[in-house]
Amino acid sequence: IETKLPKVGTTIFTVMSQLAVEHKAVNLGQGFPDFEPPQPLRDAITRAMAEGRNQYAPGIGLQPLREQIALKTERLYGHKLDPNTEITVTSGATEALFAAIAAVVRAGDEVIVFDPAYDSYEPAIELQGARAVHIPLQAPSFGIDWQRVRDAVTPKTRMILINSPHNPTGAVLSAADLDELAAIVRDTEIVVLSDEVYEHIVYDGAQHESVLRHAELAARSFVVSSFGKTYHCTGWKLGYAVAPKALSAEFRKVHQYLTFCTFHPAQVAFAEFMASTPGHYLELPSFYQVKRDRFRELIKPSRFKLLDVPGGYFQLVDYSAISDKDDVAFCEWMVKEGGVAAIPLTPFYDKAPGTHYLRLCFAKSDATMEAAAERLCKL
Ligand code: PMP
Ligand code: GLN
Repeated sequence: IETKLPKVGTTIFTVMSQLAVEHKAVNLGQGFPDFEPPQPLRDAITRAMAEGRNQYAPGIGLQPLREQIALKTERLYGHKLDPNTEITVTSGATEALFAAIAAVVRAGDEVIVFDPAYDSYEPAIELQGARAVHIPLQAPSFGIDWQRVRDAVTPKTRMILINSPHNPTGAVLSAADLDELAAIVRDTEIVVLSDEVYEHIVYDGAQHESVLRHAELAARSFVVSSFGKTYHCTGWKLGYAVAPKALSAEFRKVHQYLTFCTFHPAQVAFAEFMASTPGHYLELPSFYQVKRDRFRELIKPSRFKLLDVPGGYFQLVDYSAISDKDDVAFCEWMVKEGGVAAIPLTPFYDKAPGTHYLRLCFAKSDATMEAAAERLCKL
């Protein structure tokens, strides 16, 4: 059969996780914590199942959970949401991203994405018969050159997809960046899709510049987040999309036939836990800052050069002092010979610049970080 996604193979996350198992490597590749979600949250989901919350949830998500999301959004970003018309609970951010793209992007449209781009974006765009227009971020800080964005906008541009804190680079957008974006989309039909799954993981006292802080952008944006990142439970696959009423209505048309609704016990558990423990997400920056700083300290004696990490839970390193292999080949060599799995950046580019960077996940216990660092320092 003729393939609809000729460029797509198995994702680099799956490839590297399999290699890590095969070679008994410490896995700092695929991004997931190796520690458990908070005990009260685990108790709450077990209780929800024991109490019989095991059938379909409401399609748009459980009311008390949507109310908690609205409360959090107002508390953190000063943006009031109507839980009934502006919030939809999804099967992870992955579903939310796909549904947002499918809801508004038409055949022949263009969607601007910034490379390196999270790998689920482009296939979702291509499945609509649309085209991703790639704009490279500027290494080593990975900021956006807004003039390039202005130059890339055409009458076919339907969406601009941003991601802050950014995976894989850790870069964050500033309030000035959002002003630039607002000026570009003003008086156009362009919709913004803002992937904010790492919204609670920003460092050094910085504040996360959510699109929801920016009234003009919020009025034309989907904002996507993930409980997996915030509550250390990537395997529960729960996320949500926020958008104004008209966009949410279109989003829900797709969502109701993509999944209809999502995992009910987890929704009960998050509704309970968010209400009882709002401090969890407030403490997340310092929780991860300790890990970031510890990991940087541990690998400082190595030959890897550390890039800055303003947000997210990934450390980019430059391995030029160790090897001149390309990044995919270096990661394959490192997982086999060095005993540590990492993620190369090339798979996140349309036209890879050939930089010698790789991504290491530090959402790990001290023991895992220490074991990895010991090996990395020998390379
Ligand atoms: N966007 C980004 C930038 C991510 O890093 C991830 C998770 N790796 C997702 C979306 C998907 O999140 P989820 O696991 O909730 O589907
Ligand atoms: N988002 C995770 C990462 O960036 C991986 C998710 C996945 O495996 N699809 O590592």
